Amino acid sequence: MNAYLFTNARIIDPSQNMDFTGDLLVKDGIIAAVGEPLDLPNDAGVIDLEGKWLVPGLLDMHVHLREPGEEYKETIESGTTAAVAGGFTAVACMPNTQPVNDSAGITRFILEKAQISARARVYPIAAITLGQKGEQLTEFGDLLNAGAIAFSDDGLPVKNAAVMRQALEYAQNFDTLIISHSEELDLSRGGVMNEGRVSTILGLKGIPAATEEIAVFRDVALAELTGGRLHIAHVSTKGSVEIVRRAKSRGVRVTAETAPHYFSLTEEAVFGYNTFAKMSPPLRTEEDRLAVIEGLKDGAIDAIATDHAPHSVLEKECEFQMAANGIIGLETAIPLSLNLVRDGYITASQMIRCMSISPSKILSVPEGSLKNGNSADICIIDPEAIFTLTRESLHSLSYNSPFLGKVLQGKAILTLIDGRPVFDPTGILRVPEVK
Ligand SMILES: [Zn+2]
Repeated sequence: MNAYLFTNARIIDPSQNMDFTGDLLVKDGIIAAVGEPLDLPNDAGVIDLEGKWLVPGLLDMHVHLREPGEEYKETIESGTTAAVAGGFTAVACMPNTQPVNDSAGITRFILEKAQISARARVYPIAAITLGQKGEQLTEFGDLLNAGAIAFSDDGLPVKNAAVMRQALEYAQNFDTLIISHSEELDLSRGGVMNEGRVSTILGLKGIPAATEEIAVFRDVALAELTGGRLHIAHVSTKGSVEIVRRAKSRGVRVTAETAPHYFSLTEEAVFGYNTFAKMSPPLRTEEDRLAVIEGLKDGAIDAIATDHAPHSVLEKECEFQMAANGIIGLETAIPLSLNLVRDGYITASQMIRCMSISPSKILSVPEGSLKNGNSADICIIDPEAIFTLTRESLHSLSYNSPFLGKVLQGKAILTLIDGRPVFDPTGILRVPEVK
């Protein structure tokens, strides 16, 4: 038997409404007991966490692993190495790879590759339409059988409302989820940042908030029409938060996520034509940022997902108009989310809920809880740790982050999957492991 006891931890598990200082026992890769304080089995190692947070392994429901096809930006191995370094034990990867994950063969390839090289659990999200062309639905049944867990054309919206309607109807046969990248393409075309004061000053073509809101409204209306289960990806505007909030109060089956950059930055980050502040949807205004935080606070927004989007120097260190959209996020999600807790906007429990049990329920996967008998997928966070984000400190193959060079506070110091350390830079588990 391999057993160890974490003592003196702040245990936060929103799935069981737990937030207390106590102990957790891991036995043979399983969570064997949670309480305060626990008796120590004879042969168990003891790790005193001195008040550090012990939370369920985090789940990021929106990442781009870039494999197959763009392995120079990220691979399943490097992306999941970044994930565990950021406290995530599971990631759901978007289908806009090359080729697109629109067939069972590609889904199986991703899972087989993950089996060999992934450091975290990998859940593939398959495309809604073949080639993400927005025309013909993929074979949902085959893709689910191959291991896909939800459907999205992320990176692009499903432009044709009739096709989106069909997807939401078809999805109900399998009780599966449709994830909407909400963007009205005719309105956003040519735009490279939020439309407003800063785009005017910089002389850049803007993307109005309405671009997103029209699409969110359309997809919510289609979910209401069909009864299908809809999830809105990367909510960035005040209007979108309000549309989702109202839809929920009417009983529409809709959930939503936002990304840490939308509650941490505004369009002002683009000043200096900073391509590391270019993403889709774009960074918005202070009013939008505060509305997104309000959404996290009152539950209009269910999850925090990073939209981790690695790009190489080629795609980012160029003219602003030409630069690719997206930033990496796996290794900054904890400190940026902790800022909201420190500033008193949300509680620690709300933060962890948005990064564990909430996305896990949306995706219908087993992660996100410290219940007895569950796999010991655990993240230990030092909320006080202060560090400077540097290229060298990142585990991702890419470094396109607007937080590069910034001093951040709070990070994962130990990540476990099935009770085994997958990220343990200071050797916290080394002692009890060799018994
Ligand atoms: Zn997207």
